Amino acid sequence: MTAYAMQDMTWPEVKEALETVKVAILPVGSQEQHGPHLACNVDIAGAEAFALMLAEKVHPLAMLAPPLNYGISYHHMLFPGSLTLRPETFIQVLIDVATSLRQQGIRRIFVVNGHGGNQSALDIASVKMRADLGMRMSYTLWPVLGEMSIVKDQNVKRHTGHACIYETSLMMHLRPDIVRDEALAEGEMQPPLYGDVSTTGIGGFAYWNEITRNGAFEGAPEATAEIGEKIVQLALERATSFVRQFAQIDVEKQSLMHFK
Ligand SMILES: [Zn+2]
Repeated sequence: MTAYAMQDMTWPEVKEALETVKVAILPVGSQEQHGPHLACNVDIAGAEAFALMLAEKVHPLAMLAPPLNYGISYHHMLFPGSLTLRPETFIQVLIDVATSLRQQGIRRIFVVNGHGGNQSALDIASVKMRADLGMRMSYTLWPVLGEMSIVKDQNVKRHTGHACIYETSLMMHLRPDIVRDEALAEGEMQPPLYGDVSTTGIGGFAYWNEITRNGAFEGAPEATAEIGEKIVQLALERATSFVRQFAQIDVEKQSLMHFK
């Protein structure tokens, strides 16, 4: 076995694997529109593919947990094909999965998240897991781990982050089967909702249909599998070193020094 994937294993196999496994890697995504050229499962498809590569890199320290295909996607709901969980449900599912993992002796979870809309709920879940379950959960919006240096390389200012040059490139590399080459579309951006007021650093101000008419951001027609591969490799390097460290942290240790 080059990676442990819990859903493909028998219970005696899992039992044996648990002798070395310190971290559960949990892919999390969403079911939501991704413009006219990408299937609605992009966020979980990418997270699953990346999580498997990561599990191979850190084998036998980690075990893949089955993916959570649904996320928080209210802001996409006016496009057909989008489905959402309530944040409370999403957090509760994570807590229940964590509780089950804890019963099997896994106290550290690394969430490989493919969807930006899940981030704030993941933050709350991680706080609750530490406080209520004595577990550690870390999470990453994984493309961001690799994307930043590429964005800098290209030195182009454009609206990216969804069905854009980067996300489309990632799928061309990881899952070309869900890219509709014949439908590759430039984002049909809406005029800014707040005129020339800068919304950088301001959240919660728009639904997706208020930002883009076709659901895509910019640059998809320039996407290439090569850009995608570069992002994946950078992200993989960084995630691998993080998980190796994460596997060693002392979960029991609570710092009470502030209270002395
Ligand atoms: Zn996406």
